[in-house]
Amino acid sequence: MSISHGQTDPMRYEAEMREALCEVGRRVWKREYIASNDGNFSVRLDGDRILATPTMVSKGFMKPEELPVVTLDGQQLSGPLRVTSEVKAHLEIYRVRPDVRAVVHVHPPHATAFAVARKPLPKCILPEIELFLGEIPLTSYATPGTDEFAATLRPFLANHNAFVLTNHGALTVGSDPFECYYRMETLEQYCRILLLAANLGGWQQISEVQALELLQLREKLGVVDRRLEAGECLCSTGVPPSQSVVNQRTDTDQMESLIEDITARVLEAIRQT
Ligand SMILES: [Zn+2]
Repeated sequence: MSISHGQTDPMRYEAEMREALCEVGRRVWKREYIASNDGNFSVRLDGDRILATPTMVSKGFMKPEELPVVTLDGQQLSGPLRVTSEVKAHLEIYRVRPDVRAVVHVHPPHATAFAVARKPLPKCILPEIELFLGEIPLTSYATPGTDEFAATLRPFLANHNAFVLTNHGALTVGSDPFECYYRMETLEQYCRILLLAANLGGWQQISEVQALELLQLREKLGVVDRRLEAGECLCSTGVPPSQSVVNQRTDTDQMESLIEDITARVLEAIRQT
C-alpha cells in the first residue's frame, strides 16, 4: 500500500490512513502481537488532528469508519466509538516529536517476555538492528492509560523509535503506520532470535570497532546515533552480567539438573526398599 504522506488532498489522506490503520490491525492480529482488544495505533492528520483506534474493539477486525479523531489535547472530535485510553501516550509523542506521524503499540510475545522479565535488550548483536532501529530502551512501569504512563516515554523520545515497555509490551513510532509496523516486526523478530540463542548458551556481541562501522553506515543513511554523539561505550547495556537473561538461563539449567539428580536418587532409594 503506498502512502501519500499528506501531500495530497487532506480528505484522501485521511481515507488512506483509515485503511492503513485497519490493515496494520489485521497484520498484528494475524501475527499474534495482540489478543482480544489489546493494542492501539494512531496517525497524525492535518493540523492537530489525530486519527486513533477505538477502545474495546479487536484491532484485527476494525472498519475504517469506526476510527475516532481526537485533538492533540485529547478531545474527541468524531467517531462512533470511544478512543483508546492509551491515546495520552500517543499525544505526548506527537507533541515532543514533530517528525513522528504514526504510533503503533502492541504486546508481541517475545518482546513482551523481555518487558515482563525487565531485561534490557542487548546491543551490538545483529547488524540490521544497529542500522535500522539503534538502541531499544526499556521504559519504567506505570499504569497504562495514565499521564504517568505517557511520562515514562519522555526521557527516551528524542533519540529512539522503538521501546520495550516494562511489564506491558512494545511501542514504535515512524513516518506512517507501515513504518511503525515494520519496526515492530523487526523488534519482535530480534527478541525471538535472542530467546532462541539463549537456549543455545547465549548470544555473542560484535566488537566495539565493528559496531562503530555500523553506526557510521547509519550516519550515511541520515541518522546520527545517540551513542556516537555521547561518545560512550556502544555495546554496554549497563546491566551486570549476573542479571542478564543468558545467565538466568544458566541458573535455571543448574536448578533443573539439581532436580533431576535428586529425583534419580529418590527413585533409586524407592527401588532398593
Ligand atoms: Zn498496552
